[in-house]
Amino acid sequence: MDQKTLRTGTNLAVDSPSLLADIAETARFGGTAKGGICRLALTLQDRQVRDWLGTQAAALGGVLTVDSMGNQFIRLPGSDPSLPPLVMGSHLDTQPTGGKYDGIYGVLAGLSVLRALQRSGYRMRHPVELVNWTNEEGSRFAPAMFSSGVFAGAITELQAYEIRDVDGISFGQALEEIGYRGDEPCGQHPVRAYFELHIEQGPVLEKEGTTIGAVTGVQAMRWFDLRLNGQEAHAGTTPRAMRRDALLTAAHIMIMIDEIAQSHGEDTRATVGIIHVQPGSTNVVPGEVQMSLDLRHPDDDVIAAVEECIRKEAARQAEQQGIAFSMKRIWKSPAVHFDPACVELVRRAASQTGQTCRDIVSGAGHDAAYMGHICPTAMIFIPCRNGLSHNEAEHAEAGDIVAGANVLLHAVMAADAHFDPV
Ligand SMILES: [Zn+2]
Repeated sequence: MDQKTLRTGTNLAVDSPSLLADIAETARFGGTAKGGICRLALTLQDRQVRDWLGTQAAALGGVLTVDSMGNQFIRLPGSDPSLPPLVMGSHLDTQPTGGKYDGIYGVLAGLSVLRALQRSGYRMRHPVELVNWTNEEGSRFAPAMFSSGVFAGAITELQAYEIRDVDGISFGQALEEIGYRGDEPCGQHPVRAYFELHIEQGPVLEKEGTTIGAVTGVQAMRWFDLRLNGQEAHAGTTPRAMRRDALLTAAHIMIMIDEIAQSHGEDTRATVGIIHVQPGSTNVVPGEVQMSLDLRHPDDDVIAAVEECIRKEAARQAEQQGIAFSMKRIWKSPAVHFDPACVELVRRAASQTGQTCRDIVSGAGHDAAYMGHICPTAMIFIPCRNGLSHNEAEHAEAGDIVAGANVLLHAVMAADAHFDPV
């Protein structure tokens, strides 16, 4: 490489074979028969992939730090040690029937960026870091993303440690058990700016034939725990008029939730994903139902109105049918608007690397949403087949995978010049 290229770095690119090989290799940890991954947070499989990442860090000559929430940071030094690092990252945990790309892609692409910088001899002023956030998915320990939430000061570590999985194991205990409760207090790690690369998990980019999404923000999200209490009774002898069937009321409420969502415009998303019925017997009228509700909308005011409407209508429905009803909000994430300067760096990196690009709002939650509260943040999306995610068939094309990684590389390099100018 000549001196001019070294200085400007315009020709720098990630090594695509090793990025694609890393995706295939890490898919072994928790790999499923259907070609997906089951790698719930803080399981043996999660520990294996973390250990793998640690090995890669060492091979790269990077400095590995683990914080008290188990978040892993890999650091390459910059030429000015007084500057805080530019951080790239995502997560390596998956849903129970997850794919090979959600989260994993962002971490492995970040690793390929570190390697490209290291091997080219291109010298950044800021240190550059890669982070693997713990328990992004929230499928073993709910809610989602609480390790970046603790990092950003939105949740206390004490609260997080007490969260339990379905077997009653606490997050704190599980973290100790896999040996990833690190020394550095979570949140004390400096960050100058944060970039997260991810598959879109929706159909927009693929449908349009656009390779890069410059993500301008994340829609507002709220999670709820709904409980209905009626009365268990004999299915054969209890007449219709005397029944207090909690599941039947839950069914009415689910339909009503869908109608309310529809009436608030097509950007509204309302999903009931979990239902537990007691006692769960063929010949017993269900006495108790617990169900989840996930609400999303790009606008904070609209999501608040939808919540209000559901509360009122569900309570009315339950009362009419003699069912005790409660709706507890267990998590809330306001709409996030990413840093305009960082989003612009992504758009320019796309143009510089010859990729088509459009602005997009994230429909899914990401660790970047919490990071956006504490530092300049942006995200980069690439298409995924049929917009499918949280599914073992999740797929991204090799060309898009490499293109996204190169946009990440050039956005971070541009951020090095943009922040703390000399
Ligand atoms: Zn993800």
